Amino acid sequence: MAKHYMDAVVVGGGPAGSTCARLLKKQNKDVLLIDKDEFPREKACAGWITPAVIESLDLDLVDYAKHNVLQPLYGFHIGMIGEKNVRIDYGKPMSYGIRRSEFDYYLLAEARVPVLAKTTVKSIDRHGDNWLVNGEIETPLLVGAGGHFCPVAKKMGAKPGQNEAIVAAQEIEFKMNDEQVSLCNADAEVPELYFCRDLKGYGWLFRKGRYLNIGLGREDSHNLSSHVDEFINELQSNNRIPANMEKKLAGHAYQLYGSAQRQLTDDGLLLIGDAAGLAYSHSGEGIRPAIESAILAANAICNCRGEYSTTRLRAYVQDIEKRFGTRKQNNQISISNILPNKLKQKIAAKALSNNWFSRKYVLNKWFLHLDQDPLRPLH
Ligand SMILES: Cc1cc2nc3c(=O)[nH]c(=O)nc-3n(C[C@H](O)[C@H](O)[C@H](O)COP(=O)(O)OP(=O)(O)OC[C@H]3O[C@@H](n4cnc5c(N)ncnc54)[C@H](O)[C@@H]3O)c2cc1C
Repeated sequence: MAKHYMDAVVVGGGPAGSTCARLLKKQNKDVLLIDKDEFPREKACAGWITPAVIESLDLDLVDYAKHNVLQPLYGFHIGMIGEKNVRIDYGKPMSYGIRRSEFDYYLLAEARVPVLAKTTVKSIDRHGDNWLVNGEIETPLLVGAGGHFCPVAKKMGAKPGQNEAIVAAQEIEFKMNDEQVSLCNADAEVPELYFCRDLKGYGWLFRKGRYLNIGLGREDSHNLSSHVDEFINELQSNNRIPANMEKKLAGHAYQLYGSAQRQLTDDGLLLIGDAAGLAYSHSGEGIRPAIESAILAANAICNCRGEYSTTRLRAYVQDIEKRFGTRKQNNQISISNILPNKLKQKIAAKALSNNWFSRKYVLNKWFLHLDQDPLRPLH
């Protein structure tokens, strides 16, 4: 027997889920957000957010920075692991470094919706025209924002870990002690990005005040740990990071938009963020697509006027394709396809150490998406 009825249930309290829940609440819907963790919680992430994210969220940076780490990024070092790199300066903040534990907690609090924390969604069953979550919460609309392993995505047929192309990444973020601070040569205002020789991924070195974030992600998960070890050894031998740091990295997987194949909607079901597999194909940036998909979903839901059939929700799929292109178009531009196969290893190192190429293509186009205006909520 159903115990509670909600107009909408959002599964997952990351950037996608909290943004969508906040916007649905503004439409006067009774929304419940469920997350398996209690916030603040850790999330494996470099914590790079682009200016479009701040605009879409209408984030008050002064308020945010009162209690949270907010590191302005004025430029980037770009190169290939083991090769010469180039420093690109913009002279103004072009992005920010945040800590995901803080950022996600802040956004969730801003949503001002009831949160059922420490509750794993284990069952999703049909109950008349509605869905029944964990046998006790009934709703006509279930928004899947549970990340790569989202239970709503699984209900819709996704099989994470079985037949999906993924980006596999490892990352560590830690607070440096005084000795480590004195041994760390990473510049907080200019993070470092180093591509793997086969261009199937890249490693990063991000310093946010006293926090250091180091990681590497690849489209090919074989031997990920040895790629990570090679990268960290390289950073240590160049005295970029302290030699005495812990090396316990956290691993995580997610999908790039171009190679994901997840269905986005079904009757009364809709996926956003990593649950839908929307991260940018070149950079692996997932926070902006998570927030933009939440905005598009909230708009589409509003226009459904309470009737959430697959046909009515189809507008969301069309809006995603209008915004991000089709998956097929995006498949042509994955990280490893930056340059033609035969040429890439020969000329990639040279191209990446060229200031003009790295600024115009790698940063402005593929990482910062300066050609695409921020998306703002309509309602
Ligand atoms: C190592 C690494 C580095 C990255 N660096 C960046 C970066 O610098 N910038 C960037 O833009 N993107 C980055 N990304 C991608 C980015 O982290 C994701 O795209 C983003 O977190 C997606 O947000 P989301 O809200 O869709 O999902 P998530 O942030 O993953 O949130 C999903 C939520 O769902 C909850 N959940 C899951 N299953 C259940 C369940 N069964 N029941 C209840 N709750 C559940 C989880 O607890 C979690 O809180 C990185 C990814 C990785 C792995």
